[in-house]
Amino acid sequence: MGRPSFPRTLLEFQRRFSGDEECRRYLLESRWPDGYSCPRCNHREAYELSLRALLKCKVCGYQTSATAGTVLHGSKIPLSSWFWAAYLVTTHTPGFSALQLQRQLGLNRYETAWAMLQKLRRAMVRPERDRISGKVEVDETYVGGVEEGRRGGRQRESTKSIVVGAVEVRGRGSGRIRLAVVEDVSAASLVRFVEGAVETGSTLLTDGWQGYAPLRKTYDHQPTTQGDPKNAAKLLPRVHRAFSNLKTWIVGTHHGVSPKHLPHYVNEFVFRFNRRRTPMAAFQSLLGLTGQHTPTTYKMLYSGESNG
Ligand SMILES: [Zn+2]
Repeated sequence: MGRPSFPRTLLEFQRRFSGDEECRRYLLESRWPDGYSCPRCNHREAYELSLRALLKCKVCGYQTSATAGTVLHGSKIPLSSWFWAAYLVTTHTPGFSALQLQRQLGLNRYETAWAMLQKLRRAMVRPERDRISGKVEVDETYVGGVEEGRRGGRQRESTKSIVVGAVEVRGRGSGRIRLAVVEDVSAASLVRFVEGAVETGSTLLTDGWQGYAPLRKTYDHQPTTQGDPKNAAKLLPRVHRAFSNLKTWIVGTHHGVSPKHLPHYVNEFVFRFNRRRTPMAAFQSLLGLTGQHTPTTYKMLYSGESNG
């Protein structure tokens, strides 16, 4: 029993979610892959109360909604518009502007499109929970400013931010990535990032920077002294490709980003990158459908509810 399948093409999507009723069905299937079950008494039958996927238990009368915990909850925008927005944002890298969304969905107000995008974006800035593992390249780079990398090395210019990254080695390609904005390139900052992003015991490939040295205590650390900083891209190709794509996206699509907002864009980049081969997971994350199946939340534990 799995979740409902995800449309692979625009045409398939259009057929599948042609109206609010189809979207409502999908929400119900996502929330209850094995069929409805009352959260209070576990009864399997309910009255369907509205197009917003509201259900009322036939035995105890408990009301529950398939949109609870999703961005659709309490919204007056039609379900089908939300589905289209999430689909477009998921499948169109690099991202969608509010104006494009307004035109594509035929919305009267620009503000509506803008608010929808903001809500969908919020799902992308949620930090990734699990740590990456295996063989991992780690390095840092400077983002912003006008004279990118001219001096090389690790001297900081005031207009630049520092982004540190970790990328899994998968054959010739890349697996999952983690990126974060850090204050400086001190051992304290770099070690904190790596410990939060990479599982202990993994193999770490870095350059010879001393800031990475303490990692040998808890990781299989394999530093390489590169000599000329220009060789770093050859020694750590995956993490440098990620940096390069990040910069191209920030400059090309967003025409630069202020240091204050950079962390959000970095998170969005990571979100897209890690789901580039699983559009269904991205689509469901954006709508907020994935959180519904968390085995047992603290809230449930303390309110004495079980996850029937
Ligand atoms: Zn019930």
